[in-house]
Amino acid sequence: MRKIAFYGKGGIGKSTTASNVSAALSLMGKRVCQIGCDPKNDSTRLLLGHICKSTVLDMLRTKDAGDIQKEDIIHTGFHGVTCVEAGGPEPGVGCAGRGIIVALELLDRMKALPESDVVLYDVLGDVVCGGFAMPIREGYAEEIYIVSSGELMSLYAANNIAKGIARFASRGKVRLAGIIGNSRNVPGEKELLIEFAERLHTGLAAFIPRDRTVNLAENHRQTVLQYAPDSQQAEVYRKLAETILTNEAESIPTPISFDELENLVAQYGTEN
Ligand code: ADP
Ligand code: MG
Repeated sequence: MRKIAFYGKGGIGKSTTASNVSAALSLMGKRVCQIGCDPKNDSTRLLLGHICKSTVLDMLRTKDAGDIQKEDIIHTGFHGVTCVEAGGPEPGVGCAGRGIIVALELLDRMKALPESDVVLYDVLGDVVCGGFAMPIREGYAEEIYIVSSGELMSLYAANNIAKGIARFASRGKVRLAGIIGNSRNVPGEKELLIEFAERLHTGLAAFIPRDRTVNLAENHRQTVLQYAPDSQQAEVYRKLAETILTNEAESIPTPISFDELENLVAQYGTEN
């Protein structure tokens, strides 16, 4: 079983990319499970066709852990993709990171996940504190992809995630498998991301164009794979799914300093 995680800054396109990749993998015949680890709860929305109505933390608020059934927290989405949302605390109460720990531990104890070829964790990476580091710290995920655009703050988060991976790589199997560029149409973006990846000792696994089809599909609560399977954008996600299946690159990343990052962005991002 491949244990993969997508990390990245909030709003950068993790869930969109993860859902499209899960859909593509499933259409290629793989058994896929996507686990949302973001208090936003919307990781699997495009696969389910709606916001997940019962997250693991929702269930823990209404039932004792021992009374929770698999069906309460395991949902089936597009083309049979298994969907789980860890969930989040009530706004203003509790810690989102802690929630992810509780949710993943419960899934483990219940042995709730069906047999899968690929498990894909979709994790908020603005802070790599206890809870959000859980998938890489406890060996839930081994192959980490960082989703980033060429914007400074997105790369800043990516670099911090790389620091987290480097820390846990020394005592576990977790490795950086690549950067997934999700374009925001900033100047020199692809070249910048290639260079950034190189400095971290990894590669750019894909450069995903910013495309209106993604938004149209989202308005229909669908992945691009479902909404516009013949589109160029669908092909981009299928190609990324293939790359992930065949990718053997794994590195212990070498994060860079903030000064180096700033200089890099200034060097590539200047409009001519
Ligand atoms: P995250 O999970 O990282 O918080 P989302 O996947 O929810 O981010 O994406 C944030 C927004 O960006 C969504 O409205 C999504 O449709 C849009 N988006 C993501 N990737 C693309 C893309 N390649 N082209 C156009 N819009 C995109
Ligand atoms: Mg998300």
